[in-house]
Amino acid sequence: MNEAAERLAEVQGHIADAAKRAQREAREICLIAVSKTHDASAIRPLIAAGQRHFGENRVQEAAAKWPELRAETPGIVLHLIGQLQSNKAEEAVALFDAIHSVDRSSLVQALAKACAKAGRQPQLFVQVNIGDEEQKGGCATRDLPALLAEAADAGLTIDGLMAIPPADIEPAPFFALLDELAERHGLPLRSMGMSGDYETAVMLGATHVRVGTALFGLRG
Ligand SMILES: *Cc1c(COP(=O)(O)O)cnc(C)c1O
Repeated sequence: MNEAAERLAEVQGHIADAAKRAQREAREICLIAVSKTHDASAIRPLIAAGQRHFGENRVQEAAAKWPELRAETPGIVLHLIGQLQSNKAEEAVALFDAIHSVDRSSLVQALAKACAKAGRQPQLFVQVNIGDEEQKGGCATRDLPALLAEAADAGLTIDGLMAIPPADIEPAPFFALLDELAERHGLPLRSMGMSGDYETAVMLGATHVRVGTALFGLRG
């Protein structure tokens, strides 16, 4: 096996172990390979090893890299995991199959307009500022019910919640809280867990884990 295939097998193995410990099926969990900052030559070996879901945090970068990679391999699924400016909503709706960073009213309105125009809607996650941290992206937990109501009024289907817990403290309580919030609002999907904590996230109900470093190595 080459290095990319080995890393992929290792991460998949850890997901399977964590799922088993939580009495879940590993195939309920979608592994998103976060390819931000990595170029096509670093991404191709993972595609060759069978990986199909990829995550990018910037519309511009994804638009530069992915059309060519997609033309080479059918079945690629692209996830936007970074902040989205309202004026890029149309481009994002055209490019991505899922958007994990819906976090405010103006973006809900821009996405509703873009989806109506495109005649399609990507899978949508509301990003929650789960630790209620100053200066962190995501909708405040207290504003979540209103944002979900606004999305419904605008004709958008919200499929799940996404969060990035505060750095350097135990993430488990925040994953549990996101799971509870999703449950309370009847949302089936939970995007949580990165290279350092995806196994914990899987045990606490993640349906999507976003893993960069453990698959690609350190970003330059
Ligand atoms: C970069 C990024 C990741 C991946 O982080 P790693 O620690 O490299 O696995 C996951 N989610 C978001 C939102 C990111 O920006």
